[in-house]
Amino acid sequence: MLFFDRQWFLQVLYDQIKHKDRILLNSGINSIRDTDSGIEILTARGQVYSGAMVVGADGIHSVVRGEMARIASETPTTAFATNSEEHVACYYKCTFGIAQNIAQWHNSEQCFTIGHGITFLVASGPQNRFLFVRLLKILYGKDIPRYTRDDEAKFVKKYQGFAITENLTFGQVYSQRLTSTLTPLHEIVFKKWSLSRMLLVGDSAHKPNPIGGMGGNGAIESVAELINALLDAMTDADFGSVFTRMQDARYERAKFTAKSSHAMQALFASEEPFLSYVVWKIIAPMM
Ligand SMILES: Cc1cc2nc3c(=O)[nH]c(=O)nc-3n(C[C@H](O)[C@H](O)[C@H](O)COP(=O)(O)OP(=O)(O)OC[C@H]3O[C@@H](n4cnc5c(N)ncnc54)[C@H](O)[C@@H]3O)c2cc1C
Repeated sequence: MLFFDRQWFLQVLYDQIKHKDRILLNSGINSIRDTDSGIEILTARGQVYSGAMVVGADGIHSVVRGEMARIASETPTTAFATNSEEHVACYYKCTFGIAQNIAQWHNSEQCFTIGHGITFLVASGPQNRFLFVRLLKILYGKDIPRYTRDDEAKFVKKYQGFAITENLTFGQVYSQRLTSTLTPLHEIVFKKWSLSRMLLVGDSAHKPNPIGGMGGNGAIESVAELINALLDAMTDADFGSVFTRMQDARYERAKFTAKSSHAMQALFASEEPFLSYVVWKIIAPMM
């Protein structure tokens, strides 16, 4: 496993783009118009763009998903779960970040610390990373909060004394941080990823608990399947069948990833204490 920064990854992708002038920053989508001849996008700055289709890779709070639900609700015959946001579950919150120069940490090591309702993951990267999660009661949809810096400070204060290894506490790692944030961990695989000329990929369609490190990987897989389906249908502009083929290729695997990631998190956080005891105290030492 290799950890590296999201920004580096974005830079690698960006460097490969031939038409850099087509990348528009600070141009968030406000609304979408689905017409007979194509799609129109209205941005927050008031610009209008038209095209053949929209691929929404705009994360768990996807505006594109919201627009798909709105457009479907205005067409009585179109099925699209309008309240799908309400099905998004959150079992854990997590502070994650990058820390450097931790005296008690051995570079190149990777450490999962199991606990009751708590897990630490610290992995060596070009700089060290840490991830820390704590069990919440299950929250859904609009009840899932967005955390502030103040929430993070309180959270860290409460758990700073917790041990990651025999010689290292969470507080020691945190004090060496370069960046950090506190976030709820949404878990969902939406049932429907497309409508008319609009498609969702990445977290806007499928978002697992990050402990398995599969969210971004899943987004890449979905885009690869979209390209496969598009290349096969080059002469046929039937977006419905292209999008259906893409979702068919990805749906069960996205469900499997979300389920496995949740199971992994549950095992590390002792959601079922007896099972975690058997795995970590009996099977793992034998292995
Ligand atoms: C703690 C943590 C650790 C993780 N570790 C890993 C890991 O090790 N490996 C891995 O593969 N994945 C990991 N993930 C998951 C990974 O970060 C996500 O799955 C991935 O970022 C999803 O990419 P995305 O493009 O779908 O959504 P996002 O990364 O959420 O990006 C959405 C983008 O859309 C933009 N946007 C939002 N609204 C609009 C709008 N209205 N108009 C235009 N643009 C908009 C945003 O600015 C943003 O750039 C982790 C996640 C967390 C929380």
